[in-house]
Amino acid sequence: MHPVFDNSYARLPERFFARLAPDRVASPLPIVVNRALAERLGIDPDWLSSPEGTAVLAGNRLPEGAEPIAQAYAGHQFGGFVPQLGDGRAILLGEVLAPDGARFDWVLKGAGRTPWSRGGDGRAWLGPVLREYLVSETMAALGVPTTRALGAVLTGQTVYRDGFHKPGAVISRIATSHIRVGTFEYFAARQDQEALATLCQYTISRHYPEADGPLGLLAAVVGAQAKLVAQWLSFGFIHGVMNTDNCALSGETIDYGPCAFLDSYHPQTKFSSIDNYGRYAYANQPQIALWNLTQLASCLLPLIGPEEAAVEQARAVLDGFAPAYQAAWLCRMGRKIGLEHAKEADRPLIESLLSRMASEGADFTRTFRGLATGQAGAEFSDPAAFDTWAPLWQARLAQEVVPQAVLSAANPVRIPRNHRIEEAITAAVLGDFAPFHRLQAALEHPFDPDEDFAAYEAAPTLDERVTRTF
Ligand code: AMP
Ligand code: MG
Ligand code: MG
Repeated sequence: MHPVFDNSYARLPERFFARLAPDRVASPLPIVVNRALAERLGIDPDWLSSPEGTAVLAGNRLPEGAEPIAQAYAGHQFGGFVPQLGDGRAILLGEVLAPDGARFDWVLKGAGRTPWSRGGDGRAWLGPVLREYLVSETMAALGVPTTRALGAVLTGQTVYRDGFHKPGAVISRIATSHIRVGTFEYFAARQDQEALATLCQYTISRHYPEADGPLGLLAAVVGAQAKLVAQWLSFGFIHGVMNTDNCALSGETIDYGPCAFLDSYHPQTKFSSIDNYGRYAYANQPQIALWNLTQLASCLLPLIGPEEAAVEQARAVLDGFAPAYQAAWLCRMGRKIGLEHAKEADRPLIESLLSRMASEGADFTRTFRGLATGQAGAEFSDPAAFDTWAPLWQARLAQEVVPQAVLSAANPVRIPRNHRIEEAITAAVLGDFAPFHRLQAALEHPFDPDEDFAAYEAAPTLDERVTRTF
């Protein structure tokens, strides 16, 4: 069971990418192999865990059938357009065809310099690699569309960051594709109509075969992003760097940098030290997703038709984002308070709970899970804030058939808390991977109560609180 490759992106015109192999690293050491994901992909987990597999995960050995490339893309970073970004430290080994025919990109992140590295070293250090592994795999376990982590290795080399030499690492990221809004922007900025048409057709056939032309593609991506961001909010997830190059056409969460799950709830929370104005704060995410989709729409305009009509049509599709998002949010958040099919009239009840949580510093995950166990009130610094909401909620809940089951299925017991991730990284830097492995095990079934992992349910104490993840 070696991976079966079929590299469709590498068959696109040469200006879509640069062909190059990963740089060799000094002495690869395995950190983790995602055995379940390997099996899903039709890859023998024992092979992937062997020295040969470790060499592949490190970029020291190319698996048979791989055709490594770095992809070209542009992007709006914090609202400012950069016409050329591209994979600066990531290399797409190729596309794995799973036994069921599903197609997945296999990317090595931290694989060395590429023509798009600019001033960067093309490398990653252990901290962000472990964070991406933990957070992306938890997102998958929560049922949120996301890239996955197939494995991670130490390179045996150091990476210089923030004045320190830190252990270098490479993560293997699996995605249904790495086509970004920024990929379209790259060709739009060059007025390369032919490439745009090729990319549009390619994206449709890879992700949305039922979509009718560029407008159909836009509508499909609008729908996927609306659902995705509603899920983020429902789990208290903050992406942290929703630049257009980090917005995937597939509708998967991609590029885990300064991301985090909220501890105590406040809509303006952010964890990125470079996001000075809170552009990517928790509650801004739907608006930013729409902003990103608007950039996609403007790239597609020349493919849609004569300008004036195309603008009108694209605008009509973009106008569909808000209602789609609102409906998805209501559905997700309704389930979080035990309503199987929340109605518009239920919105104020949910919003009232959230505003009380915000003013009382209630822990997001514990409060919602606490609704199932009767312990939500304890999360509010002033219990009256909850106690005056609870009767209204109870009255509404009385109309539901199986509220308890709905609550338990919608609200995780454990999330990758920032202080736990930091703890795992700190230990790993010193050579102790036990906290990482234990945390990873605790997050495999985030909805299931488990005595063994009770410690991971706790919110951070004031001393433990992490306010920056990047
Ligand atoms: P990101 O912040 O990961 O979305 O990356 C933004 C851009 O910077 C992308 O083009 C990356 O490939 C590039 N980049 C980030 N870190 C590095 C690095 N260490 N070396 C080279 N390029 C990098
Ligand atoms: Mg090329
Ligand atoms: Mg990125």
